[in-house]
Order: sequence, then C-alpha cells, then structure tokens
Amino acid sequence: MEKRNQIVLAGNPNSGKTTVFNALTGARQHVGNYPGVTVEKIVGSFKSGDLNITLTDLPGTYSLTANSPEELIARNVIINEKPELVVNIIDASNLERNLFLTLQFMELGVPLILVLNMIDNARDRGIEIDAERLARLFGARVVCTVGNRSEGINELKKVIGEVVREKERHSVNKVNYSDELEIPIRKAAKILTDNKLVPEGYDAEWLAIKLLEKDNEITGLLSALPGSGEALKAIDDIIGKLENDVNEPSEIIVTEHRYGFIAGTCREVVSSTLQKRRDISEAADSVLTHRVFGIPLFLGLMYLVFYLTFTVGDPFMGWIEQGVEWLGVFVSSWWPEGSASPLRSLLVEGVIAGVGGVLVFLPNIAFLFFAIAILEDTGYMARVAFIMDRLMNKIGLHGKSFIPMLIGFGCSVPAIMATRTLNLRRDRMTTMLVVPLMSCGARIPIYALIIPAFFPKKWEAAIMFSIYITGIAVAVLTAKLLRSTLFRGENEPFVLELPPYRIPTLKSICIHMWSRTSVYLHKAGTLLLGASVVLWALSNYPKKETFERDYAGEMAKIEQSRLPAAEKKSLIRKIGNEKTAEALSYTCTGRIGHVIAPALKPMGFDWRVGTALIGAFPAKELFVSQMGIVFALGELDEENPVALRAELPKHYNGLQAYCIMIFCLLSAPCIATFAAARRESNSWFWAFFQMFGLTALAYIVTTLVYQFGILFM
Ligand code: GDP
Ligand code: MG
Repeated sequence: MEKRNQIVLAGNPNSGKTTVFNALTGARQHVGNYPGVTVEKIVGSFKSGDLNITLTDLPGTYSLTANSPEELIARNVIINEKPELVVNIIDASNLERNLFLTLQFMELGVPLILVLNMIDNARDRGIEIDAERLARLFGARVVCTVGNRSEGINELKKVIGEVVREKERHSVNKVNYSDELEIPIRKAAKILTDNKLVPEGYDAEWLAIKLLEKDNEITGLLSALPGSGEALKAIDDIIGKLENDVNEPSEIIVTEHRYGFIAGTCREVVSSTLQKRRDISEAADSVLTHRVFGIPLFLGLMYLVFYLTFTVGDPFMGWIEQGVEWLGVFVSSWWPEGSASPLRSLLVEGVIAGVGGVLVFLPNIAFLFFAIAILEDTGYMARVAFIMDRLMNKIGLHGKSFIPMLIGFGCSVPAIMATRTLNLRRDRMTTMLVVPLMSCGARIPIYALIIPAFFPKKWEAAIMFSIYITGIAVAVLTAKLLRSTLFRGENEPFVLELPPYRIPTLKSICIHMWSRTSVYLHKAGTLLLGASVVLWALSNYPKKETFERDYAGEMAKIEQSRLPAAEKKSLIRKIGNEKTAEALSYTCTGRIGHVIAPALKPMGFDWRVGTALIGAFPAKELFVSQMGIVFALGELDEENPVALRAELPKHYNGLQAYCIMIFCLLSAPCIATFAAARRESNSWFWAFFQMFGLTALAYIVTTLVYQFGILFM
C-alpha cells in the first residue's frame, strides 16, 4: 500500500475550516464519528505533487484547555495520533482572537502551517498583516487564502507538500514567556523530568503549563503515575508561590501571558489603515511604544527617576551621614584623645568609614529600586523592552537582549542568569559580555558620593543620566562589535509580550523594592564589612615608624608663631595631610597605588583613586569605602570629622570626578559578576575576556574623556 501522510486541519469555529477543507479535498471525503462521542469526524485526501495526503478536519475550538469534548478531541488527536502537520486556519480579520489557539499549538511544539484565511475580509476592514514577519516570529510557514473563492489553495497545497516532504521535521519556535511565568514553568518541567513523570509523547514544559492551568486531564494523568505525589506537591508549591507573588490564580496568569504574547505579536505584524475604536490599553501602547516618541519618552522618564532619586533621597542621606559621623565620634570617645590604638582605628577608620560610607546612600538606592518597581509592575518596562527591541533589531542585535540588560540596572548577576532566555549561544554570549555596562545598583553609592560633591544641584540628574546613557551606548556599540566579529550570524526572531497594564499595589512595589534593597543591606553586613577590614589593614600596614620630616616639630613651631589662628589651623592641617600621605605611601595600599599611578595618569587619577579602584574589585561600593578609609586616616580633627563628600572636592576637580564615574561604570565587573559569567558561559576564557576586555575599554574611554576634557579646563 502506498504511504499516506496524515495531517490535520484545526482552527476556531467559523474561521472557514470546512470551506478550506472542501477546497483542498474536493469530493474525496468521508464522514464518521470520533470514537465514543457524537462529534463528526471528517476525513479527506488530496495530492501535493506525488504525495498522498490524508486530511482530518478537527472540531473547531478556541482553545485546547479541555473544557469541552471538542477541545479534548482536538488535543488528544494531536498528542496521540501525532499528525505530521497541523494546518491552522486563522480568520485573518480576527487575528488576535484566533492566535490564542495558534499559541497553544506552539506550546505543544507541533509542526505548524498558519493559513490566514478570510484575508479579503481583513483587507476590507483596513487590516494589513505582515505575513512574512509573522512567519519569522513563529518559525512557521504562513499562507494567505480566501477559502470561498479558492484563492491561495494551490499555494497551500504546495507548502503543505514542502513541509511534509522535508526530512527534518519542521518545528515552530518555542514560546518563551516572560520570566514571571517562564521560570515557574521551567522549574516545574525540571521536577517532572527529574522524577521521570513525562509520559511517552508528552513534552515536560507543556505538561508544566497544563499543571499551572490546573488542567484536570493532565493532573489526573500525572497523579496516576507511580511516585508522582511528592513531585506534584513540589509543583503545587511553585504554583502557590507564583499566585502569591502576582496575587492571581495561576490559570489566569497563564492566560494573561498568552494574551501578552499575542498583543506583542499583533503590534509587530498588524497595521491598520483605518481608524478603529481603541481601548485604553491599546491607546496607551500606541503612545508608549510609538516608533518615534517611544524612546524619548523612556529617556524622559529615566531622567525624572534620577532627578527624584537625588531630591527625595537627599534629606535621608544627610541624616544617615550625620548618624554615621556621630557613631564614629562616639566610638572614638571610648579611647583617650590622640590614642593610637589599632582597634580604635579599625572600628572608626575601617568599619565605620568603610561600611558606613556606603550605607549613607541606602536611601538613594531604595528610591531608585522603588521607582523601577513601579515601572515594572505597571507593565511599562515590557513596553521599553519592546521599543528597544525594534531599535536593537535595526542595528542587528537580538532585541531580547534588552531584558537582561534592563535587569542589569539592578544587578549584573541575575542579569547574566537571565540571558538563559536567549536560545542561540552567540546572542547569549554577546549579551552576557555587555551586561555589566548597565549601571548596576552597586555603582549608585559612587555616583551619589561624587555627583552632589562636585556638581551644582540643577545638574545632578543630568550628570547621572549621562552616565547611564554612556553605559547603554557603550554596551550597544560593544555588542554590535562582538556580533560582527566574534559572534557572527543571523538574528533569531522572537515575540515580546505586551502584558496588560496594571495598577500596582503599594504592597507589591514595596516587596519588590525591599527584596532588592535587602540584598544590598546583606552585602553591606557581609562582603563589604569583610572587605573593608582587609582594605583598612592594607591601608595601615606596614606602619611607618620614622618619618623623613619632623612633622611634630614643624607643627609645634607653627603653633608658637604669631600667625592668625585661622592661618595656623590651615597650615597645621596641610602638614598633617603631608604626614598622612607619607604614612599611607608606606603601606601596602600606598605602594600598590604608587606603582600603578603612572598608568592612571592619562585618566586624571592619582594613586589614592588607584587603590580605591583596586579595592572596588570585590564589589563596586568598595570604591567609596576605600576612599572613606584613605581620607578618614587623614582626619586630624577628631572632634569634628568632615564627611567624605566635603573632603573630595579639595583634592579633585569636576572632570576627574566625572572620569572616576565613567571608569567605575565601564571597568571590570565585580567578583560576583565574574563568577556568574564564568558559570553561565561555562568558560574561564570568556569570564577573563570580559574582565580584561571591559577594563581595557574603560581605560580607553576614560582617557579619551579626560584628555578631551582638559582641553576645555
Ligand atoms: P468553519 O466553521 O471553520 O468550518 O467555517 P466554514 O468553512 O463553515 O465557513 C464559515 C463561513 O465563512 C462560510 O459562510 C464561508 O463561506 C465563509 N468563508 C470561508 N472562507 C472565507 C474567506 O476566505 N473569505 C470570506 N469572505 N468568507 C469565507
Ligand atoms: Mg466547519
């Protein structure tokens, strides 16, 4: 007997399935019933070239959720009979509604052809669909037809033949939802796989989605398997956590993400020539994701956020600063005045100056995270990803890269982990390598220290803005360079979800803010504390016992002279600073600093900045700690210590300050990021490549900025 290829026709009711079926098969059909139910089963056949194809008309359904016998039949035919191809008839004039079913075929991972039927109706309503783009986004062939006039039917036959004939089976793109849903899906799928709970013919992630949807059939199927109890309980916990996070039943969350995916698709492929009635969400999207205004709008919002970060954070910052100073004076007072106790020095000049110096900026960090949480929870960040996607695509980059990059504004470590959503290694590696250029939360203390210290109030937000933009611009350019050299290749198309707009609750925003801020606090209590102690030791030992000059004698002489009191004070201060400098030069820090100082000169940095930059390797905030330690050592006036913010402008100018920020932004990522890059790329080479590459990049860019800048000073 000759070989027959089994394919099925599926689609929403009234999408024109029967019409297309008739057009394809003509009179060669046969009507029966699906076993056990009174749903008609129509089978027909036709030829495509030399292939004999048997076509089954599945019952019309809107979904595959098994809510009705039709849905269950459609789903089981596909899972159990494994047709070679699903031909999905779509009413093109109702694309959005029809894609809901299409998406579920994609979740199943079946080979798929999309038929945009009733394309005549769509055109009459002024709807244009970019079929080619749709095909690339979904990874499926797309054919346009007018069923009742047999238009496009021959083309459809031809395409069916081609797809069936091709040796390796056509598979649609995997549907990747955004992390909120995708992570629970993957976790649940992993539990199923690990416990061997994936029956023959099923896909673990699909089963996971069904469990999230609380699908009775699949829950029943899996719980009947031996030893499934504990695994299903673990999955229930995952579902419970998701529901708790989002505050909605998981089946609704799944549906929302599906609609988000479809909204994103439609925004990409549908253009409407006629003015149609829009709902609020669509109206908002048409502004927020506008081709021209979308980006300036985003930039404006970022500017506003930075502006508020400083203005709202400022009073709190002042309070904490005073608190830290007070604590320093208080702890100092435990020892007699002028005591050289190492413990006193460790506590006051090491721990309090180091950790306290960083904690001062907690309010700014918390506020920035608060603002980002609002932008995320309302659904705006997804729109930003959407507009950036377009921009990135234009310059040949994968748009999805922008999601890890957005996460990178918080912290590079989760951002690097988020690159897992990129399927191709070249996209993934490129993104991973540039993620640290996104200015993470740990850099905020550096900016918050430097910007108010050196720049006038009205410029603060603009300076901060320029740093972030520099980071993004350098990241994009670097990625472009990498993609056209080391990681060459085509872009992989994908769909970005446009989730529904939500009015976030204060509680959920606070939870998001707190979860990030607490990571920072935890870091202050552990890594920063330990590193501050080490930096303090390196900045104190070996101790200089005998000095080149007789500082004490010089000071005494000035004290006895007849100079005015104010002048005396400043002279003594100057000599004191010189003494500290000599003492510091003798320590490990000083020696290292002096060795590297010549190399730092082109960037406008002195040896003290150099030591702080080295100190910043374990964590970026340690730059502030180390500067605090270095300048705390110089503190003569113990009764009235001067904040680091007030001290720095005496030693550096605005250009140097700006260069410090640029260098901290671009240079080697912190140790945790290095470890994450090593783990995720599974390669020491790329981790080191990133570390040295970014440092070299920082060196070049900062030198350029400084050298160019001094021309105007
Ligand atoms: P089914 O429920 O999916 O099987 O849909 P049918 O095949 O029964 O079609 C429903 C209605 O749509 C019928 O009146 C068809 O004549 C009409 N129809 C089918 N395809 C097209 C098309 O491409 N364009 C237009 N304008 N009408 C169509
Ligand atoms: Mg029909």
